Amino acid sequence: MTKEVLLGAHMSIAGGVHMAIERACSINCTAMQIFVKNNMQWFARPLSTDEIREFLDHQQRAQLGSVFAHANYLINLAATNPQFHANSLRALAEELIRADHLGLPFLVMHPGAHLGAGEEAGLEKITASIDAIWRVIPKVKTKIALETTAGQGSCLGHRFEHIAHIVANVREPERICICLDTAHIFAAGYDIGSENAAKKTFRKFDRVIPQARDRLVAIHLNDSKAARGSRVDRHAHIGKGKIGLAAFRFIMNAPRFGKIPKVLETPKGKELKEDVVNLRTLRRLIASPTPSSRAQARDLTNFG
Ligand SMILES: [Zn+2]
Ligand SMILES: [Zn+2]
Repeated sequence: MTKEVLLGAHMSIAGGVHMAIERACSINCTAMQIFVKNNMQWFARPLSTDEIREFLDHQQRAQLGSVFAHANYLINLAATNPQFHANSLRALAEELIRADHLGLPFLVMHPGAHLGAGEEAGLEKITASIDAIWRVIPKVKTKIALETTAGQGSCLGHRFEHIAHIVANVREPERICICLDTAHIFAAGYDIGSENAAKKTFRKFDRVIPQARDRLVAIHLNDSKAARGSRVDRHAHIGKGKIGLAAFRFIMNAPRFGKIPKVLETPKGKELKEDVVNLRTLRRLIASPTPSSRAQARDLTNFG
């Protein structure tokens, strides 16, 4: 299991959190992301012990080498409306508790949108909010994984510097990790279109964010319908968007990402057929020679 690539997709929890395990295993995922409750509602009743046990003791649970959570989309730690901000703090704390009960190592979260208050004020509010949440749940082991964003509207997190600022200023940086989304960093303007460009972008990631390599815990593999630098967040199927397969080939093969779980967040129907196609495309990229190395091999044969 540990030697196998940790690859999968975001799965629906309709019918109960344990149902996500069955969906993921039905298409041979080895990793999966889930919401810990309805993603468009602020609050939910706590998970019952039965629900938790059904998830933890599920007979297929061990087939998934990595399972983690994504926070709901309403949460905005930089919200300027006091009620909205208070809801965000409470909702995030509750989701971290749910994720902890399910034994999930981290909850992926978009840093927040400053809504006109400005980048600096927004980043400070996010940092203070994270500190406030951790103060009320000191024992929760589930970490917050800040996700790189596309930078749509006033969303923060589209520069590696934003993530670095939060990591450097929270009181318990050991409770923060990072999730990188290929479609988001591409739309944010980072070039990952070729192996060289991708290497350069990841060198920047390493340089800008404190302990970036150790903090990176997950990758969202999405192609992008929107152009590089557009700051528009529109996911596309792998190889069908503007990023190109070179970026995915690099990520699937680079030793540094070998143990990092990679999940799709691309559109799909109930049958998960789209996931099957995307996962097949990604698996085929593993160790497949790049066009240039194939050309090199041909040149070598010509010599010999
Ligand atoms: Zn996300
Ligand atoms: Zn994502």
